[in-house]
Amino acid sequence: MANKPSSSSLPSINEDIAAVEEVPLYGSESGWVEARTHCDHLASLSQDLTHIPTPDTQCNRCQHPNENWLCLCCKDVLCSRFVNKHMLEHYHQSNHCLALSYSDLSVWCFSCDAYLDAQVILSLHPAYETAYLLKFGEAPPLRS
Ligand SMILES: [Zn+2]
Ligand SMILES: [Zn+2]
Ligand SMILES: [Zn+2]
Repeated sequence: MANKPSSSSLPSINEDIAAVEEVPLYGSESGWVEARTHCDHLASLSQDLTHIPTPDTQCNRCQHPNENWLCLCCKDVLCSRFVNKHMLEHYHQSNHCLALSYSDLSVWCFSCDAYLDAQVILSLHPAYETAYLLKFGEAPPLRS
């Protein structure tokens, strides 16, 4: 008999406390790094993301050979902030803020300063699917 209805002894005070504590906790988990499911900058995406450079493309500036980023606005391939920061530099110069990582296929928005969920955001599907296909030789297992 563990789950008695709340009409037994001393119920209402405990329930009120629980309800009050749950509400502020629910909305206060900011700061946690989680992929966003929307972004205000998707209008700047390239119109054709089904034709993109292969994942082993070198950085266009320093020829770094792998794990580069693809600019999803102009399809330039540039190295990461852990190499020579050419993708970051490109963002500062051109304001192209959306980039796909060829190392793990994550999508980053420099303006939002956040990862974007490429499997949820419809306009990112072509880039994600094409990159996945190029990298692994098969279509991605899309969640639905
Ligand atoms: Zn570079
Ligand atoms: Zn660009
Ligand atoms: Zn954004």
